[in-house]
Amino acid sequence: MSHSSGINWIANKCISCQACLLVCPSEALHLFEGKLAFDGSKCDSALFCIQICFTEALEKIDFFGSSTE
Ligand code: SF4
Repeated sequence: MSHSSGINWIANKCISCQACLLVCPSEALHLFEGKLAFDGSKCDSALFCIQICFTEALEKIDFFGSSTE
């Protein structure tokens, strides 16, 4: 059974440093009017963005709604 995942962005933890945009290999993250925008259709679940974000503004979620970590 396949398992799909996505990214949850926590706005009040984000300082818009853009580190996550630079490490995303599939260009699934963009900055729009000062806020992070996530395109789930491009995400390959590399999860580099979660690893690089030192404010813990990004977290992995699955499409069933439960935490995976
Ligand atoms: S790395 Fe974290 S703090 Fe920096 S822009 Fe991305 S989500 Fe925001």
